[in-house]
Amino acid sequence: MKIAEVHTHILDHKLDVAFESASMRFDRRQHILVEIVCDDGTTGWGECLGPALPNGAIVKAYATRLIGRNPLDTEILWQELYNLFRDQGQRGLAVTALSGIDVALWDIKGKRFGVPVSVLLGGRLRESVRAYATGSFRRDGVDRVADNAAECAGHIAAGFNAVKIKIGFDPKTDLAVIAAVREAIGPQARLMIDANHGYDVREAVAVGQAAQQYDIDWFEEPVIPEQLGAYRAVRAGQPIPVAGGETWHGRFGFREPLETRCIDIAQPDLCGTGGFTEMRRIADMAALHGVRLVPHVWGTVVQIAASLQFMAALLPDPPRREPIEPILEFDRTPNPFRQAIARTPIEHENGVVRIPDGPGLGIEIDRDALAEFAWKDGA
Ligand SMILES: [Mg+2]
Repeated sequence: MKIAEVHTHILDHKLDVAFESASMRFDRRQHILVEIVCDDGTTGWGECLGPALPNGAIVKAYATRLIGRNPLDTEILWQELYNLFRDQGQRGLAVTALSGIDVALWDIKGKRFGVPVSVLLGGRLRESVRAYATGSFRRDGVDRVADNAAECAGHIAAGFNAVKIKIGFDPKTDLAVIAAVREAIGPQARLMIDANHGYDVREAVAVGQAAQQYDIDWFEEPVIPEQLGAYRAVRAGQPIPVAGGETWHGRFGFREPLETRCIDIAQPDLCGTGGFTEMRRIADMAALHGVRLVPHVWGTVVQIAASLQFMAALLPDPPRREPIEPILEFDRTPNPFRQAIARTPIEHENGVVRIPDGPGLGIEIDRDALAEFAWKDGA
């Protein structure tokens, strides 16, 4: 079995209403998939977190090294590709592009042996996971407080018992949003806040102290990810558990945050931090340091399926009779191709998502939908 072809597919949709986090504006939804085809016809799918065009260029640069190679050599290929750009790479796009390739190689490996990736990772501890609804961005032309509260009430009505909202714009309005959302979802539902690194330390500490009364599960990305000392100051200065890690790539990126306890909850992204190969090592490191792991998920059904395979095999820490169960980040913002590109979409039922049990990632790609949402240069 040899790798014969490597392709990328950029999916694109222009949104009717733009939305934004504290650090990013979304006028379009755009994601990139990696397709690896083997000489026996086996095809694997992966996805890269982050901007599609630069990711695609780097996947293309890696691809020349992959043709003719054994797709089952996941560790060997990971190290070889990482090493190719090590001197100028180490994190960012060099690793997000590698992640998409690694996920596709594991999809192939699962198909080759006729088992889901979760079985290759050591076994399925669970067949489903609870999901939390991610959304509540700032939308153009509406009152953010009322808009976020109404949206979150909708998630609870749809069966979710956990929601995550966007803050990090300005502390005063952010606290008004938190209060309104807690009121809208009731006292039982779990509520998480995500600042998308919009605050400085003083703001983050003040918001954390003031928001504590609303029973917040975690405070995500309070400050910019390069400021590890600031992370520690936020963790020390306010009582809400601190989460982060969607932009820390690879085991090297997670070493210092874990060793110096910047976070209570690590959020590596499978399609950004290095694929299954590296995610396993990061999960081991998090467990070594007693830090909880909740994967970051922002992408299409390919990334959702891959994250579910990983979560199926995630060992409980600590192992106890009723262990702490992992929770899936489930994006509820508008994206018409997120599920449409799979023959069998991955949806939730009362906030619970079943983990696919077919070979590889457990999904089949719908090529008609891929063509429908294919990015047209200059469109
Ligand atoms: Mg986030």
